[in-house]
Amino acid sequence: MLNKLLLSISAICISVTYSWSQQRTWTSGDIKIQLEKLDVLGSVLYFAAHPDDENTRLIAWLAQEKKYRTGYLSLTRGEGGQNLIGTHLGLDLGLIRTNELLAARNIDKGEQFFSSAVDFGFSKTHEETFRFWDKQSILAEAVYVIRKFRPDVIITRFPPDPRGGHGHHQASAILAHEAFLAAADSTRFPEQLHEVGTWQATRLVWNTANFGGMNNTSESQLKIDIGAYNSLLGQSYGEIAADSRSQHKSQGFGAASTRGRSIEYFEHVAGGEAKTTLMDGLTTTWERIPHSRNIQRLVQNINTAFDANHPEKILADLLLLKKEVHKIADIYWKKQKLKEIVDLILACSGIWVDAVVAAPAYTAHQDIPVQLEVTVRNPDVPMILNNIDGKPIQQQLQHNILWRGQQNVKWDSTSQPYWLLSAPSLGKFHIDKHNIGYPLNPQKPHITFTFQIGEEEIEVQRDIAYRFVDPVRGEVYQPLVVQPQLTVSSDQQTILVAKRGSKEIQLTFQNNDFHTKRYTVNALAPQGWEVLPETIDLDFTSTNTIEYIIKATPLETAPDNAPILLKWENDTLRSRRTIDYTHIPSITWFPTLDIRCQRLDINNIVQKVGYINGAGDLIPQSLANVGIEVSLLNEKQIEADYLKQFDAVVVGIRYFNVNEKSKASLAQLLKYVEQGGVVLVQYNVNSRLQAENLGPYPFRLSRDRVTEEDAKVDFDPNDPVFNYPNKITSADFDGWVQERGLYFANEIDKSYRTPIRMHDTNESSKTGSLLIGKYGKGKFVYTSLSFFRQLPAGVPGAYRLFVNLLTKEK
Ligand SMILES: [Zn+2]
Repeated sequence: MLNKLLLSISAICISVTYSWSQQRTWTSGDIKIQLEKLDVLGSVLYFAAHPDDENTRLIAWLAQEKKYRTGYLSLTRGEGGQNLIGTHLGLDLGLIRTNELLAARNIDKGEQFFSSAVDFGFSKTHEETFRFWDKQSILAEAVYVIRKFRPDVIITRFPPDPRGGHGHHQASAILAHEAFLAAADSTRFPEQLHEVGTWQATRLVWNTANFGGMNNTSESQLKIDIGAYNSLLGQSYGEIAADSRSQHKSQGFGAASTRGRSIEYFEHVAGGEAKTTLMDGLTTTWERIPHSRNIQRLVQNINTAFDANHPEKILADLLLLKKEVHKIADIYWKKQKLKEIVDLILACSGIWVDAVVAAPAYTAHQDIPVQLEVTVRNPDVPMILNNIDGKPIQQQLQHNILWRGQQNVKWDSTSQPYWLLSAPSLGKFHIDKHNIGYPLNPQKPHITFTFQIGEEEIEVQRDIAYRFVDPVRGEVYQPLVVQPQLTVSSDQQTILVAKRGSKEIQLTFQNNDFHTKRYTVNALAPQGWEVLPETIDLDFTSTNTIEYIIKATPLETAPDNAPILLKWENDTLRSRRTIDYTHIPSITWFPTLDIRCQRLDINNIVQKVGYINGAGDLIPQSLANVGIEVSLLNEKQIEADYLKQFDAVVVGIRYFNVNEKSKASLAQLLKYVEQGGVVLVQYNVNSRLQAENLGPYPFRLSRDRVTEEDAKVDFDPNDPVFNYPNKITSADFDGWVQERGLYFANEIDKSYRTPIRMHDTNESSKTGSLLIGKYGKGKFVYTSLSFFRQLPAGVPGAYRLFVNLLTKEK
């Protein structure tokens, strides 16, 4: 009967989107889990602040053992963190961590949501956090996500008080509780109600933990063992969780698998209290839908009839089930279950649908030639490819015979991530309300395939991917990049210009448009600066790339830290940045070209500096910016005699955390200091240190930090380091960004001078941000001041102090 084309076709628009790495068709084990999930109607939302806050073991267990629809709302994308695998920070790091979170969800099978809150760096209180976040608008977004996702249970990772640690953590718990109440209240955020109804989650619980010396668990809390083993997956949830957790590579969160019993604790917060399970008092089967007897019977039959060798045998029943589910009144569960059924129909038919291009990037408004492939790989599946993007095809698909086609697509906007379309404020992205909650752009260039199977028409929406073969990695799929017509790059991000000086900047323009060959670009100088020429005429008739030099000169009135803007047709011209790591998809985005102009009056006698790479920072480029010659040192070159040629050696952030040979290197560095050299070591953290002592005299590392970038700095004005070659005044501590410093030293040996003291509001004074020790004929400096943020940002006082630190003392 499946072979017959029936007249009454119930066409339902269902879009099935697979992520970049999910080109694999489900195994029979995957299908079996999804068949069991057909009988589960329950949902849970995990709620916290950052990528990596979530309990991946619990998410894996909820999604795959209990088979609830399970989501994680991370309020931020983690822009404020540090990066252990490269130099990308800030918005770039947020993009990396967004994709790491999606890679984790791909393993534990949770869904991912975000708000538009920015991770602006470590915050000690929720009051400070809410000053940056615009609490009401983030609350509105959390309410919207809850009303749309309709969780039966909401779980927070943190408590709403100082036990949560980070101010963002405390704020996430406060927002979860307020959103739990507001989502059910039709007088709160009523503007959402034409799109999403009110929703009363049954309860709110706090998933307590015993972690980092703080134990919030107690035997009176709800306890659940989530250490089960799933034989269809061949893994227990502690093993799946470790795979998922280990995707947070930029945070260095590779995790060990756990096996055996594993108890999670839940403290009741609001709603009806649970005594034995998270879902106490809730119905999480088809019983929660009235008149669903037929559906229940069908789901049971399908599960019983499933044959792992011949998944296609249940197709007829799945099609029947689809019809039945279409009749139910509950819009939310109808949509969820129809999506699950369509995914199952596609998986059971063994269908392969692909839409790929031959180049990594195409230009907005221009034709994208897409190669199409379809094949049905299980036998006895009568499928017809009805149409592609509405264009009739009417092709009966033959068992295991590849059908190929081609289709041109145009896409009118670039693939810029939606939260980066306009510049964020310090604490919040400015986003279109249609994008609330989405981890990535909800609409990407895609092809819509319409299939007919039996009476049913099924739409498959496939995002277009760039497919290629890498000699090492094999076949790789990457997201398609849609680029602007014209892009520009600069050889410098920050220019530092001395009094009465000027600086040349080399711009490289790239034309990505087949048709337009001429452009006129205006260079807008920041106030108090002169940028010449003001008008740049570009002619791409014989080339796609043009290099151009502009010259920036500060006038007497030049203010601090203003950017040069390049405009074309009233639009800010954008540059292009690609971030490549193998554990996540390639990321390309289009930041505005932001050449920050900074006047810098600096005395410098340091000419040659050796640099040892740690976890990655932009100190070498920054020093080159003020005319210092920087040599990147490899392991073999870290040898006292070789180092003699340098005025100073700088050690990259977290070197002693990430390099196994760092202990041996330190011995050579100290020998170099003893003979008269200068060594400056930047911050490390106190876990996984490869050496017990990081300097010639003992000190330890704490977790102390000063996060207020404008915290008052007390310093000993007579200390040599503040006098030569630059006279440092309190003005040199103005304009710092994000923070003063992190992971300060403590228990510091008396042989070091500690000439700086500072603290955050309501805290005690801390001396561990700068240690200077004479050793032999030379000088050793350990500093937790965040020079790795200040120098790339062009902070003049940070440059002046850094150069003093690198200078030999008289
Ligand atoms: Zn966190």
